[in-house]
Amino acid sequence: MHCPYCSAADTRVIDSRLSPEGDRVRRRRVCAACGERFTSYEMAELVVPRIIKSDGTRETLNEDKLRSGMLRALEKRPVTTEQIESALQRIMKQVRGRGEREVGSRQIGEWVMDELRALDQVAYVRFASVYRSFEDVEAFREEVERLQRDTSKPKV
Ligand SMILES: [Zn+2]
Repeated sequence: MHCPYCSAADTRVIDSRLSPEGDRVRRRRVCAACGERFTSYEMAELVVPRIIKSDGTRETLNEDKLRSGMLRALEKRPVTTEQIESALQRIMKQVRGRGEREVGSRQIGEWVMDELRALDQVAYVRFASVYRSFEDVEAFREEVERLQRDTSKPKV
């Protein structure tokens, strides 16, 4: 790391310690050229990918926005906040786990629908109707019919 005082490239770490939260390392450095001391911080980079929307525009994935979309679908449904949060965390993990800088909004929508389908079928249909109506009316109609067939099956 270059010295912020004289820009010399030769600086030496004289002390390293972990922050109390454990999420960053604080390093004291000394410049070999001018003898000045300074501090640097090191932390893990968490890549939050950008979303490619269906019209080709990009936006940063917003966890709050994702949550409110799910909450809207889950309104007045018998699903606990805890269940919603862990579903959301699974989705975020999938998004980050891809390690890509950009993810299609369609892919995110599929992950949300997978989670909602497991949580609550009404919420799933609500979300799917909003999400898919613009691009894929036919697929949505088939999905609802499939669900109706599944739920009308006689119980053994
Ligand atoms: Zn220096």
